[in-house]
Amino acid sequence: MIKKKYIDLFRVESENKVHLKNYDTGWAQTEEFKDFGKGKLKERAQIVLEQNIADLAQVQQLLYADDRYSLLIVFQAMDAAGKDGTIKHVMSGVNPQGCQVFSFKKPSIEDLDHNFLWRYMKSLPERGRIGIFNRSYYEDVLVVKVHPELLQNLPDGKRGKKFWESRYEDINAFEHHLKRNGTVILKFFLNVSKKEQKQRFMERLEHPEKNWKFSCSDLAEREHWDDYMKVYEDAINATSTKWAPWYIIPADNKWITRALVADIITSTLRNLDLEFPKLNEEQLKILAEARKTLEAE
Ligand code: AMP
Ligand code: MG
Repeated sequence: MIKKKYIDLFRVESENKVHLKNYDTGWAQTEEFKDFGKGKLKERAQIVLEQNIADLAQVQQLLYADDRYSLLIVFQAMDAAGKDGTIKHVMSGVNPQGCQVFSFKKPSIEDLDHNFLWRYMKSLPERGRIGIFNRSYYEDVLVVKVHPELLQNLPDGKRGKKFWESRYEDINAFEHHLKRNGTVILKFFLNVSKKEQKQRFMERLEHPEKNWKFSCSDLAEREHWDDYMKVYEDAINATSTKWAPWYIIPADNKWITRALVADIITSTLRNLDLEFPKLNEEQLKILAEARKTLEAE
């Protein structure tokens, strides 16, 4: 387990204002890993990841049995920041029956004909389960803010600052509603640098087995890098709340990203008052009877 004080470095407090350019996309800021030097860094991160994968499997069972909470994990990032790989590794030990992953792509006509939160509401995790959103309703204040022509048909009105503020407000209210109904929310922004993204795109172009991951639209979005950083910054500042905190995770080193995300998920679940359901006397009596019946066979 990574010490809490290090984990806290990555959480955005609601009263703080985030400037993304002050956040290290590598690993230097990650005090926990500093002492290990670049040579041993991967080893150390792998140990942390493996420990957490094992712990997560256990605590997930408890979450399921307890049946009062659900956990919603939101992943947002630029292309090639490692969302898919992180989900794959971190959830690798978890019982598939207690976990759901939804990847949100461009909305359908039916989606666009509803309020912007509609399609996400339908995919929320049931009580006792972990739900992962690979992209989320945040796209509606990110890609849609960078490309306002994507916005659905809405009553006439200005699409300025007030409009986007009203969307942040809706998101905060939605998340608060979920929190009050037993959903614990974790939001991860995987913070990759423009330089590392180029490197990863190049790998996708150079290795035939990675070609399928490359999309020309990724390159088009890269051209809007600065606009994206601005809309991410605005969204994180407007929607970092006590009930649904953002974590800004350095993403230039995949091992660090995975270890940190796994640790934050596991420690969040561990800090809940989860317990296996206790049977009352009546129910215990029934079990004793059942035992007697079996023994008498
Ligand atoms: P990927 O996750 O790389 O497969 O790409 C999914 C694409 O869908 C990305 O380009 C997203 O920006 C886009 N997308 C996801 N949600 C929305 C949304 N609500 N509105 C418009 N585009 C979206
Ligand atoms: Mg993509």
